[in-house]
Amino acid sequence: MSSTKYIFITGGVTSSLGKGIVSASLAMLLQERGLSVTIQKLDPYINVDPGTLNPYEHGECYVTEDGAETDLDLGHYERFLGVPTTQANNVTTGRVYQEVIDKERRGDFLGKTVQVIPHITDEIKRRIMLLGQEDQYDVVLTEIGGTVGDIESLPYIEAVRQLKFELGPSNTLFIHLTLVPYLSATGELKTKPTQHSVKVLLENGIQPDILVLRAEKNLTSDIRSKVALFCNVEMDAVIESVNVSTIYEVPLLLQKENLDEIAIRKLKLENTKTPDLGPWTEVVDRLKHPECSVKIGLVGKYVELADSYKSIIESLSHAGATFRCKVEITCIHSEEITEENVNVILGKQRGIIVAPGFGDRGIDGKIFSARYAREHDIPFLGICLGMQCAVIEFARNVLGYKNAHSTEMDEDTSYPVIDLMEEQKEITDKGGTMRLGAWDCKIKEGTKVHQTYNKTHISERHRHRYEFNNAYLEAFEKAGFIASGINPESNLVEIMELTGHPWFIGVQFHPEYSSTVMKPHPLFIQFVKSALNHSVEQSGKKEVLARK
Ligand code: GLN
Repeated sequence: MSSTKYIFITGGVTSSLGKGIVSASLAMLLQERGLSVTIQKLDPYINVDPGTLNPYEHGECYVTEDGAETDLDLGHYERFLGVPTTQANNVTTGRVYQEVIDKERRGDFLGKTVQVIPHITDEIKRRIMLLGQEDQYDVVLTEIGGTVGDIESLPYIEAVRQLKFELGPSNTLFIHLTLVPYLSATGELKTKPTQHSVKVLLENGIQPDILVLRAEKNLTSDIRSKVALFCNVEMDAVIESVNVSTIYEVPLLLQKENLDEIAIRKLKLENTKTPDLGPWTEVVDRLKHPECSVKIGLVGKYVELADSYKSIIESLSHAGATFRCKVEITCIHSEEITEENVNVILGKQRGIIVAPGFGDRGIDGKIFSARYAREHDIPFLGICLGMQCAVIEFARNVLGYKNAHSTEMDEDTSYPVIDLMEEQKEITDKGGTMRLGAWDCKIKEGTKVHQTYNKTHISERHRHRYEFNNAYLEAFEKAGFIASGINPESNLVEIMELTGHPWFIGVQFHPEYSSTVMKPHPLFIQFVKSALNHSVEQSGKKEVLARK
């Protein structure tokens, strides 16, 4: 029998309590104890994956190395653990049902009535246990999306209840995360919502082993003992999680509350080492006590919801920590940017990122932003669609290709500088059909990206259908916008960089998916560094002006 232990994390009272961060924090603490750990997210929606979802729905779609389009919580898992996740780390109701219905069509159920229990719950259990196969991990943490009591979470709750029964108490652990609201009128923290939420779990046959309580104020021991008594949880297993200024502080606070120690005790995990959180603490200190700041403009069209650009925002903060620098990000709606106001809107930014995206809306603002960065020597990073916009802009304004465009926006453009990839031309389905996951890229020696990565072969994650049209490459390179990174098999352009500019780089891939707390991505480090240099230069110029 496998020796893998399973931890299930559920949420109660309300959504958005930070289950993903708590799960990632505990996983990181267990990893620091020398255990091999992975985290899985179960999402109760019926979409097969979040790839077809508008970012306004659930935030960014995160892409794994093996090309799965997944929930953004997987991004947190990778950023905290520094270990890649795969398709198996994200299960949706859509995927579960699809598998069961396919089996039914094949006749695999031999004439039986196919039902939520046992067929759907069996498929959920199979997908949880998949990660524990071959003892690859000592601990698998499974985060159950949604809030207990939701109709759509019920099959998941039932599946993990059964697993607890089948695997036995020392092989499974239930953590329930809830909210303890603070009523300012009476100056009290209230435990009733937590009691009710635990009751719902109990009705479904699950007794939580540990409660993590999100609160605005520290829990008194009275509150802890009240919750312990009413929820049948040991007093030391009632853990507080208060608001913090950076999510990367959460593991440090949870460790102070002994969360990892209680987990290994209850799971009877012996001989783990004492975690060394020195390097992590150092990064948190850098984030909390910056010595300088730099303004970065993030131009995109989903800016109303910061979660849409979660990985980019986190990558900038990792890179900023390297320089003890606070990265002040202004998210700017590309629809608001016009040729006339671009200098007012972007004038104070010391670095500009044009974000990934799809479709026509707000495209002009992105193109004007790329032009502004190019003409004003402002460090620029164009990611995926952002790179494509920089290419379109250059074609129009430097090469003189009037109305050059991507065929995604204008099918009949006379200058299709960005065009649909050959292998995409026959595809009609939208779900899971893009060029996805990690692809190789060969970097040209002597270029800025070569300096940045300090190597000539890299592999980065992708999510796109359109590409740089190589028919125009010679013209671009002659004018100084060069392809400094190319896929060695297909010759697809992966990186464009502008010569004679301090730092102007467009990447067809998504570096933001692989930046972690302990290993910030080199492109973000170099981008922030260039923005800092630009900032210093700008203030230098101001001084000169003042002296005149
Ligand atoms: N829409 C563009 C494409 O499909 C860019 C995609 C992206 O930014 N992720 O190529």
